[in-house]
Amino acid sequence: MLPWWKDTGVAETLSLPGFVNAHSHAFQRALRGRTEGDDFWGWRDAMLELAESLTVEQVRVGYEQVYREMLNAGYTAVGEFHYLGAAEAHAAVEAASEAGIELVLLLAAYGRGGIDRFRQGSPAEYLEQLEELRAAGVRVGLAPHSVRACTRDWLEELGRYAAAESLPLHVHACEQPREIEECLAEHGLRPIELLAETGCLGPHTTVVHATHADGRELDLLAEAGARICVCPTTEANLGDGFAPVQELCERGIGICVGSDSNVRIDPLEELRELEGIARRRAGRRNVVSVSSLLCFGADEGAAALGLE
Ligand SMILES: [Zn+2]
Repeated sequence: MLPWWKDTGVAETLSLPGFVNAHSHAFQRALRGRTEGDDFWGWRDAMLELAESLTVEQVRVGYEQVYREMLNAGYTAVGEFHYLGAAEAHAAVEAASEAGIELVLLLAAYGRGGIDRFRQGSPAEYLEQLEELRAAGVRVGLAPHSVRACTRDWLEELGRYAAAESLPLHVHACEQPREIEECLAEHGLRPIELLAETGCLGPHTTVVHATHADGRELDLLAEAGARICVCPTTEANLGDGFAPVQELCERGIGICVGSDSNVRIDPLEELRELEGIARRRAGRRNVVSVSSLLCFGADEGAAALGLE
């Protein structure tokens, strides 16, 4: 007779897909292990200080190490949400190539706020940077950073370009309550409502976080066929809150995962956390099936990056 731990009827080998990390800021790996301020905004100050200090060479060398860590953890592709500058974008591409991971460069558009190196002077200047990368053969996506960093005009122009070119469009939204309050004060709309109104929601759109999205915003995402990228270990680290996993599943909204600040690099931990969040919020077990979780970790991430 087999010992009890072997007599399970479960096959002895388990195949897992190559996972897709749909949202990374590789440089933030350097903040791992630090206390990083009292809340998201305090952490952001530390992050801005780090971002300001980095050289192109540090990006080239540091990102390769981070991408190797991703490969070792089971990620085979990464969407690098990049806002450190144009030369640094090429350094990130080189680092990924050297490490052997598939990279999609999600070039961040930053019209206001942040620090100098994040910003472009106009949507036209941004699109010039993007087209230069495309011409060099880099796989790209548009990434209006957030409704904090991009005005309505910027969002409209980028939304139009992404739709016309069938390129992925990634944008942070509804990560923190303050961002929603500021958006309501400026536009009379919540962030995902503003994205819908400016043409930034569509089947190629991935909204990163959506932690505090309300029911109306989730309906808009479902209607548009947009996806959500949930980053559970980072959202935990930053005290963002719990993603509305069950509500997303009920609406049939695609979910993918990202290592985001790279405080942890482990696709299985992201997926386990995602189901843990769903269980805590739903008050029951088995909210998301294992096959759905694996699909979130692989297929949905690939689709979010246009890698299908
Ligand atoms: Zn992010």
